[in-house]
Amino acid sequence: MTDLRLRSLSSSPKPVMKKAVDGYSVATIPAPQTHHLLIRLLYVTSAILSISCLAYVGGRGRAPLPDAYALCSRSGAHIYTVDPAYPRAQCMVVQGSHIVDVGVIDEVHRRWESSVLAIEAAIKRSHPKPRLVTKFIESGSIIVPGISDSHAHMLEYGASRLIPLESARSAKAATALVRQFILSDEDIKQDPLKFVEGWGWDHTKWADKAFPTAAILDSDPIVRQHRVILEAKDGHAIWVNSKVLEDISPLPENVEGGVICISGVLLDNAQFLVRVPPPTYRDLEKRFQLVVDDAISYGLTSIHDAGFDPRSLEFFKLLAEKEKLPIRIYGMTHFDENTEYWGDKIKPIIGAANGRFTARSVKIFADGKSSSLPKLTSLRCHPGALRSGGAALHEPYADNPSTRGFMRIDQEVLTTTIHRFLRDGWQTNVHAVGDRANTLVIDAFESALEGINVTALRPRLEHAQIVTHPDMARIAKLGVIASVQPTHAISDMYFAEDRLGPERVKSLYAFRDIIDYGARFTLGSDAPVETVNPLSGFFAAITRLAPDGTSPHGPGGWFPEQRLTREEALKGMTLDPAWASFTENILGSITPGKRADFVVLSKDIMTIPENEILHTKVLATAIDGRPVYGRI
Ligand SMILES: [Zn+2]
Repeated sequence: MTDLRLRSLSSSPKPVMKKAVDGYSVATIPAPQTHHLLIRLLYVTSAILSISCLAYVGGRGRAPLPDAYALCSRSGAHIYTVDPAYPRAQCMVVQGSHIVDVGVIDEVHRRWESSVLAIEAAIKRSHPKPRLVTKFIESGSIIVPGISDSHAHMLEYGASRLIPLESARSAKAATALVRQFILSDEDIKQDPLKFVEGWGWDHTKWADKAFPTAAILDSDPIVRQHRVILEAKDGHAIWVNSKVLEDISPLPENVEGGVICISGVLLDNAQFLVRVPPPTYRDLEKRFQLVVDDAISYGLTSIHDAGFDPRSLEFFKLLAEKEKLPIRIYGMTHFDENTEYWGDKIKPIIGAANGRFTARSVKIFADGKSSSLPKLTSLRCHPGALRSGGAALHEPYADNPSTRGFMRIDQEVLTTTIHRFLRDGWQTNVHAVGDRANTLVIDAFESALEGINVTALRPRLEHAQIVTHPDMARIAKLGVIASVQPTHAISDMYFAEDRLGPERVKSLYAFRDIIDYGARFTLGSDAPVETVNPLSGFFAAITRLAPDGTSPHGPGGWFPEQRLTREEALKGMTLDPAWASFTENILGSITPGKRADFVVLSKDIMTIPENEILHTKVLATAIDGRPVYGRI
């Protein structure tokens, strides 16, 4: 992978290490409000550096991008800074890896030149006057801060891109894609015993809506020679061929919390009957490359990975050590409640690889693993074999009164675990989908946070999908962050009411209500369950419509009163994720003193008609002032 990052210049304001009340350090830089003095200081260093080192090559071998440059719009203030002190700007000035100024074009040039003249006078030497190169964005385009995804599964997403199963419209078509992959993959050619792994088939999109079978995979002479294991899009089922079924035969009668369809599909816990060898470093590299390529092409500059396992944590640590991270990664390390507590043994990693890698939070599962509301009725291989699990609700499911879902973790274990991680200084992020799961997690947060500085801890509810109103109020009061995924609302809107009933459904994905209670929130995708494209999340959040403009409540959107404004949605993808990852002083807005992470979009998503939003293209994605995608 090409590492386009340049060593950061010392022109940035030095982070001040503050000792937080809970005993761990938080890196901060001076607040944006003091930016005039800061700009002067930055200019002083900038100018010296500009004299001695004139230009760096930016982009993919294209025209050199100077170390310092102004990026402006010819036609007015088309930079959406997400900085309340200066929400719109015509120009931003980048020096090295940081933003040093924003303003109208004449102003930023005047400030640049006067600071340069001051330097020249000070050092009394006659260097040629460093010029501030000005670049212009295309007419109609805009600049926004670097976009963050607050909840995605990076390597799983990469794995899902190996074989594009989601595009298949039948089990046969999926099998053809598997064949194509086998024939083209060098690693499988070299090691025919290697498992062929894929992700993303979705039988609900097929004409027969039936589960696929091993026999379909076996019908292809190439495919049947390999061990094939294909995970469903929702992560609740695997589809395998006979070679894999033979490996695990004889099959047990029952698997607790799982279902075996002998025709070739294993549901939930039955998936664990198949032991797939762990991915090799090379496998992970391939997956990483795929996710990074997609992410930067969609304008993402940072991803919160919602679940490192020991292997992926090691992988990312290694990449960070080698300084091979082309994107910022903020990792949550998964805590498996069946293993030993590790919060007091492992040290959080903060801002490694020049601010690109952090692993200071833990991910705990409270209820069903599904992140979007599980479709119970579609997950059975023969009548009567209902999938167990799902979201833990206060009252039974409307379409299945025999269950109210279950908690994945014992309440007492959950509470002690949350308390311990928080006490040991870990940001504690708990996956909670159902309203009961959310209540129980908030109970645990409430007792743990008594008398504690929440700003130093910033616990998060991952998903916070069905939340009662009293709990929304508690989230706000406690300072807990609701980490929500707008695209899930769109995926679930056609069956949610059947599952929850007409009243309870109103507390599902009720983003407006959550905000109105004064709670903090942050937006993510949960890729690969949904697309990693943040514009899809933006569109879903502000319209509550499917991409084709429809919803069960008509073209005005599904529960349109819960729509976010465009400003809220943009903040939810930039400054809010920065807060949720303790980086609001260095990331999340176009503010002097912050890192120069930004995105150039082909259209003004803040004003264009809604139906044009999904046609907007990313023209450039820049991290630390240099383009990692497109050009400036
Ligand atoms: Zn997730």
